[in-house]
Amino acid sequence: ELSLLEKIVALCKRRGIIFPSSEIYGGINGVWDFGPLGVELKRNIKESWWKAMTQLRTDVVGMDGSILMNREVWKASTHEDQFVDWFVDCKVCHARFRLDHLKESSCPLKPSKHPGECGGELTEPRRFNLLFKTYVGPLEEESALTYLRPETAQSIFVQFKNVLESSRMKIPFGIAQIGKAFRNEVNPRNFIFRSREFEQMELEYFVPPDTGLQYIEQWKEERVRWYESIGIAKEHIHVREVPEGERAFYSLKTYDLEYDFPFGRQELEGIAYRTDFDLKQHQIFSGKPLEYYDEERKCKYIPHVVEPSAGVDRTLLALLCESYSEEEIIGEKGQKEKRVVLRFSPRIAPIKIGVFPLLKNKAELVQKAQSVFSRLKVHFKSFYDESGAIGRRYRRMDEIGTPFCVTIDFETLEGVREGKLAGKKDTVTVRYRDSMKQDRVGIEELVDFIRQKIG
Ligand code: ATP
Repeated sequence: ELSLLEKIVALCKRRGIIFPSSEIYGGINGVWDFGPLGVELKRNIKESWWKAMTQLRTDVVGMDGSILMNREVWKASTHEDQFVDWFVDCKVCHARFRLDHLKESSCPLKPSKHPGECGGELTEPRRFNLLFKTYVGPLEEESALTYLRPETAQSIFVQFKNVLESSRMKIPFGIAQIGKAFRNEVNPRNFIFRSREFEQMELEYFVPPDTGLQYIEQWKEERVRWYESIGIAKEHIHVREVPEGERAFYSLKTYDLEYDFPFGRQELEGIAYRTDFDLKQHQIFSGKPLEYYDEERKCKYIPHVVEPSAGVDRTLLALLCESYSEEEIIGEKGQKEKRVVLRFSPRIAPIKIGVFPLLKNKAELVQKAQSVFSRLKVHFKSFYDESGAIGRRYRRMDEIGTPFCVTIDFETLEGVREGKLAGKKDTVTVRYRDSMKQDRVGIEELVDFIRQKIG
């Protein structure tokens, strides 16, 4: 029997959600590609975050900074010197582990043991930097060196003044950004949980100096609500206050929002009170003033920052784990069948509606189904399918989490046989993924009907 994570990995590959990058060449460790359905899921997650941050709030504006930046940024932020991890190698099996992950790792030769507890000796810990190096321009020399960004946050700090002045925002206000980040992790693992290339959704919320501890509490609540709104049960999210020894050195307080992944309770998002550390560093290194004049308080200060920093990929993995379910149902011929369902909330589901003619070899059904599809696709990501028995088509949609299926049958063409719609033509069945129940709905009402169900 496969583990839950193995089942999810297999489903993602089979249905075009996630593939190993460069797979035909044997892949590349810690890097993933998102297929036709994966890209839709990611877009829905990002859109939901973006809307919650920049549309429903009036105190947050967005930006989209570059991945490559002036190397000085990474000196000022301390990443160049201090974005390091420690690792050890097992002298027997040659596996490599992050020092602070030994307790969560197992020996490849004796999976019931932690590294080093299998009799294999571990090397002395070695330090390495997680930044990916690259060169700007044709010469690979020190003066051309820079790094792929390991977090999106720094471009927000560096552009703080430009955004402030052009948007005329007043403190407290935030700058939101979604984008790729790169970290040369020692040990990428647990599918897309820890990868070397990933996407972050970060907000830097600028506040007066003495209010950071107050705002971090608000953001903690707000962020838990967001996870709930995309379909992660509140009981599966755990707020952990990160103790002093584990916090980034510049943080006065940090909360991790953790999720019960199949491989344990792990960080989904970090919410850190970063004080004025970053802006101060950039002010020192760039020599440009990054202070703010507070008209209400009649004073100048370097704003403090509360940062909720979430991972798109980790959110997607949490949604997959949260939504995956298997159940036994009775098939059309009375036989027992296994049904795999991704119970995504309709707003997150990669495809909202499957549209099917009952039979493929009846031209009128096919024609009608195509016209219903044309009508729906303008409003919702829809999928037209005419191949195979109708039950099989439903099963395929269940497996990718499509919340609604619309079927065009003979009653659509000839009029409903009985019930309160008796005699009415141009109706279809709407079948629900979770209950497998069906409603009959007029084609004219369909768009509004589904819009209401999506909410
Ligand atoms: P970890 O302790 O798991 O390495 P971190 O505390 O270093 O994570 P942060 O620097 O707080 O992570 O990054 C903010 C968010 O970015 C994380 O909560 C996570 O969602 C995401 N993230 C960080 N590193 C990775 C990674 N290697 N792969 C996927 N997502 C990541």
